[in-house]
Amino acid sequence: MISNPINSPWSKNVADVLKELETNVENGLSLSEVVSRQSRFGFNIFKVEKKMGNLQRLLNQLKSPVVIILLFATIISVVLREIVDSIAIITIVIINSFIGFIQETRAEEAVEALKKLSAPKTRVLREGNIVEVSASNVTLGDILILEAGDYVSADARVLKASQLSVDEMILTGESLPVSKIESPLPTLSILADRKNMLFAGTAISTGSTQALVTAIGMSSEMGKIAEMLESAENVKTPLQTLLEQVSNKLLIFCAGVILIVAVLGIVHGEEWITVLMTAISLAVAAIPEGLPTIVTLALSLATHRMAKRNAIVRHLPAVETLGSTNVICTDKTGTLTTGKMRVRETFTLDSGIINESTLSTETHPSIRALIQSSVLCNNASLNDDESSTGDPTEVALLFSGKNHHIEYKQLTTLFPRLAEWSFESGRRRMSVAVKSDDSVLLHVKGAPETVLPLCRLTEVEKNRINESIEKLSSQGRRLLVVATKTLLPSSKEFNFNEFKESSTVENNLSFLGLISIADPPKEESIEAIKQCKAAGIIVVMITGDHPNTAKAIARELGIIKDGEFDQVLTGLELEQITQAELEKRVTNIAVYARVTPEHKLRIVEAWQSLGNIVAMTGDGVNDAPALKKASIGVSMGKGGTEVARQASSMILTDDNFSTIVSAIEEGRAIFGNIKRTIQYLLSGNLSEILIMLGAASLGLPAPLAPVHLLWINLVTDGLPSLALAAEPVPKNVLAFSKRPSPKDFFDKSFYKEMAFVGIMTSILTLGVYVYSLKHEDEITARTHAFSFLVFAELFRSFASRSEHKTFFQMGMQSNIYHLIAVAIPIIFQISLHHVRFFRGVFKVETINWIECLILLGLTLIPVSLIEIRKWMKHNKAESAN
Ligand code: ATP
Repeated sequence: MISNPINSPWSKNVADVLKELETNVENGLSLSEVVSRQSRFGFNIFKVEKKMGNLQRLLNQLKSPVVIILLFATIISVVLREIVDSIAIITIVIINSFIGFIQETRAEEAVEALKKLSAPKTRVLREGNIVEVSASNVTLGDILILEAGDYVSADARVLKASQLSVDEMILTGESLPVSKIESPLPTLSILADRKNMLFAGTAISTGSTQALVTAIGMSSEMGKIAEMLESAENVKTPLQTLLEQVSNKLLIFCAGVILIVAVLGIVHGEEWITVLMTAISLAVAAIPEGLPTIVTLALSLATHRMAKRNAIVRHLPAVETLGSTNVICTDKTGTLTTGKMRVRETFTLDSGIINESTLSTETHPSIRALIQSSVLCNNASLNDDESSTGDPTEVALLFSGKNHHIEYKQLTTLFPRLAEWSFESGRRRMSVAVKSDDSVLLHVKGAPETVLPLCRLTEVEKNRINESIEKLSSQGRRLLVVATKTLLPSSKEFNFNEFKESSTVENNLSFLGLISIADPPKEESIEAIKQCKAAGIIVVMITGDHPNTAKAIARELGIIKDGEFDQVLTGLELEQITQAELEKRVTNIAVYARVTPEHKLRIVEAWQSLGNIVAMTGDGVNDAPALKKASIGVSMGKGGTEVARQASSMILTDDNFSTIVSAIEEGRAIFGNIKRTIQYLLSGNLSEILIMLGAASLGLPAPLAPVHLLWINLVTDGLPSLALAAEPVPKNVLAFSKRPSPKDFFDKSFYKEMAFVGIMTSILTLGVYVYSLKHEDEITARTHAFSFLVFAELFRSFASRSEHKTFFQMGMQSNIYHLIAVAIPIIFQISLHHVRFFRGVFKVETINWIECLILLGLTLIPVSLIEIRKWMKHNKAESAN
């Protein structure tokens, strides 16, 4: 009988556990069995998040202070038998709540979609195939296929292990990777001693394994402590926090003004109940309660657009940080360059440097031996359809072999592999032992500095080789030295355990030659780097390649700026300087060469210590600390490891540098959208307050009735602000936008603009009101003031679509949502005047066509003034440049 978890799987042998879980080691589970087990045991998740239902979310809207104030106003209206008023208020409450509900639902949906996109994945064996599934899909009896860099998604019994070690720090606190075995252990073994088990949440450090899932979800060891791990998922972004603080300050300001308006109303002999209702409505209209929601909505819409541009943002706050990023530290191979490597030249002591295109191995036997050795010391493979799998450097070697009729398969049949000492970025070389007739041969390939010292060479030979290295690396070539030796005269004596340490075999080698490989920069990287420069974003290249190679490629890419930003630092040099020295020099270093992932952390820290917002790319397990430390950790969706992905805040689905730049572009644009939307909202609120305050000070009756204020709040705040937050990214946004920072979000210019718009609109509205009061009755005067303000606000939203461009300059770059968001309220507003029922509810008069045209003309004044001011400012800035 299968149970979750099954009983002490570590104490049983592999065959028994397989039998107990009714799984077949060749084929894994069948798909129907997976479905049946999932319905029995649930999904592999730690905690079932309680999701808010739609009804509950709608009801939640009613809890907001604004709604409570409005409901209070309704009760007063009912008590005073102002039935029409109370119906109007209730209707507005409902529409208001509905808009809030839509905003929240959309934001939530976007966040959910993000979670799904970046959910951890794992490989399992099902129906005889290895398939990638999301970790939550894994069930009891599944066979996990894992290798270095993978996350373990459930507790599992190791079936097969090859050089397997696992980082279990998160569970046991043990900082060193733990080696794993296959054989059974005593039943009473404690968790840390269960060396034949893998645990959910831990990560594979080295080697590979097949393991059988024995516990999932809350029954796994990690599930048992899941409560402790619960992280604050809904962290507020810096901007949201800032807006909350500002909202609170504005609240006090509004309350103060409303009090003054109320006192003035009573002094001028208005009825207390009218004063109270006006105060309540003004509070509802002027209090900017929706600011943090606007931010969430705008950010989540941005993540949606970024995903379409191949950048998956894993956490909402990252969108904000992206906009402020000013340093990008990026890997070279495959990110800046095409990663499609090809052999271009070869060098042997016999033949010198020979171009691959003119090479004939018939006439150069030494080069044939060189290529053969590089094909044997290789883990990549070429498929029949010209596609390839494996390390691009090794693929290049296989292609070169193929060009010279040296086939990997034939060669490995002739020389079967006995052992491998794998490539690591720290030692930068790889070796294999192969059987030849009866002897054992060693083939070594790797970076020149790491292989040449192991070769037997005369000084003259060394000089010749170094000259070639100098020449080829300055052309941006990636270089490999290939060497060989006879390890043992007879293969019978070969015992890998004796040679486990690579230093016991990698010595006394015969130099075969040099292979030079080209990996050209991507065209779009060159373009993206230009955009970065225009936007003041610094690009730093980090690579495991030779300093000369790296410098040549960085030059081609346009990263280096001579005399200012052109230094190259190697990993070795980096180790010799202190962090303080690095901080002093970091702004001049454009390229880090021969570095290992561990060095990346220091580079991030040095840039951050100078107050920069740093994005750092990485794909391996060892990159995780730097990815976590960076302001924006960027991992690779195609080539990277799961560990790197989970440590990052953004995943590039196309592994492309230019995608980082597009994401920064989105980040900046969204910052602009939020700023303009909030400015639009707040200046509207300010004008409402000033209109009421102005009229009260002049001793005039209130120009806007409570129901008017509520209506204005609904039509001008609700729809247009949603549309403004969704404004598409303008072209070249990086070139003309300033680097945003939450700190200077509410800068002087923000308040200046707000005051300009607020004061101008209120003076114009009061002008219209005072004029009408003189010539018409009070209701008509109110009608004019009310309609003027609604239209003026709606038209003004056209000016809020861009900070720099006027409506005419934006031309065809339309935002259809915005047009709809303006058209709907306009239609409603017109019908208010022409449908008798609405006239009664809104206490307004019909406006005749002449008045309507005059009003319309006047309502264009605020938006025109704003646009003229914008245009003049822009022209001034351009002529200053
Ligand atoms: P980047 O940071 O630009 O992505 P990288 O980190 O991929 O570069 P590495 O893969 O660490 O760079 O390679 C560093 C050096 O190691 C190369 O210049 C090359 O000389 C050598 N090298 C690379 N791949 C192999 C391999 N498969 N076998 C042996 N040596 C290799």
